[in-house]
Amino acid sequence: MQQVVQIQPAEHYRAPVFQAYQHRQIDKIEALKQLPQHLRFQMKVVASVFPFRVNNFVVEQLIDWSKVPNDPIFQLTFPQRGMLDDESYARMASLLRTEPSSEQIMALAEQIRAKLNPHPAGQTEHNVPELEGERVWGMQHKYRETVLFFPAQGQYCHSYCTFCFRWAQFVGKATRFNNNDADELHRYLKANRQVTDLLLTGGDPMVMRTVKFERYLDALTRPEFDHIRTIRIGTKSLTFWPYRYVTDPDAEEFLALISKLVRAGKHVSFMAHINHVQELRTDITREAIRRIRATGAQIRSQAPLLNHINNDADMWAQMWKEQTQLGIIPYYMFIERDTGAKRYFEIPLHQTWEIFRQAYQQISGVSRTVRGPSMSAGPGKVEVTGVTQIKGDKVFVLRFIQARNPAWVQIPFFAEYDEGATWLDDLKPAFGEDKFFWQEEYEAMLRAD
Ligand SMILES: *Cc1c(COP(=O)(O)O)cnc(C)c1O
Repeated sequence: MQQVVQIQPAEHYRAPVFQAYQHRQIDKIEALKQLPQHLRFQMKVVASVFPFRVNNFVVEQLIDWSKVPNDPIFQLTFPQRGMLDDESYARMASLLRTEPSSEQIMALAEQIRAKLNPHPAGQTEHNVPELEGERVWGMQHKYRETVLFFPAQGQYCHSYCTFCFRWAQFVGKATRFNNNDADELHRYLKANRQVTDLLLTGGDPMVMRTVKFERYLDALTRPEFDHIRTIRIGTKSLTFWPYRYVTDPDAEEFLALISKLVRAGKHVSFMAHINHVQELRTDITREAIRRIRATGAQIRSQAPLLNHINNDADMWAQMWKEQTQLGIIPYYMFIERDTGAKRYFEIPLHQTWEIFRQAYQQISGVSRTVRGPSMSAGPGKVEVTGVTQIKGDKVFVLRFIQARNPAWVQIPFFAEYDEGATWLDDLKPAFGEDKFFWQEEYEAMLRAD
């Protein structure tokens, strides 16, 4: 039965109001005034190192303030003490007590950030494609059939997630890791007929106005782009700024563009980043989902498994059930990447697998489209398929879901069981082997890049 939807009063949510986007503004957020002074100070220290930005919708509609600081959406958007190691925290805290200049804060922040592996899996240097002999910054072409495009105007978000693996691009110096040139995108796609999937990502492309989307996407309905079968848009807006699809001034035009792409035969999929079932329960998000699906586009969901936010198998099962009910296809459960505040959010690999399987056991077959837990590592997306004993050796069973060389996909391989391992780099081949079967070839690829 069709639900009657009350849309939030447009005046209040006509455009996002950023309640904070740097540490100095933490004192100005009304909702935080109920928290003890020392907690607010901790947030300021951490927000001096990591990017921080949150909007009025997230603060007012998604966070349950009676559960703060343990509320998952609060953990997901507001800086937390444990995100910094003790030494870095102490250094920044003492600096902030001296009424420092912005330059002093920046200088120390840069030092601390440099130790936090700001560009995991060679993001800025590897997989940069070439066009007519020139490297094209703002695209990544790692897997044969899929090109990632980072539109210049989409390189920030409606709110920043505390665990974001792209955190480094939101702080410090401007990055060249984005692209303003629709023409360059189109020429690259035309020249690469093996590409079937275009994935717009960021930041969050959905911070862009519709006219920008038209510049990038409208041309793809022409016959010379018939090989582009799928257009994906990676976004958190479905739950962090659902008004983008409902009451924003160019919402209708955006939905019309998506309908046009679908009518032209493209598979359009919104890759919705959803970390917690609590994000799915506002009327406005449900209305946004309904409108997107009415265009003929699909919505798929993906998110990392994170300590302090969603470290709970029953929650994942419930989330996947509710997503399926709303017409969202569960797609990936990721493992938190080896960057930034990983120390606070990480979960050992064996536990990620326990959580995944306990959740997977509870859901219907139609929700078992989800894969994981998966590490987006240098050689590819590696799934922790399980933990088992083989002739007395306890091992991790692994497989590539996606790989730099497509031939590696779906071949099981084995690593020594390691209670503390949290990432592929921590693992050693099982049974006394020297290397994993793909390792030599991968190392040669890195040398050739
Ligand atoms: C995840 C990912 C893709 C998409 O992979 P699918 O398996 O098709 O979802 C493409 N490029 C990169 C770099 C990725 O990390």
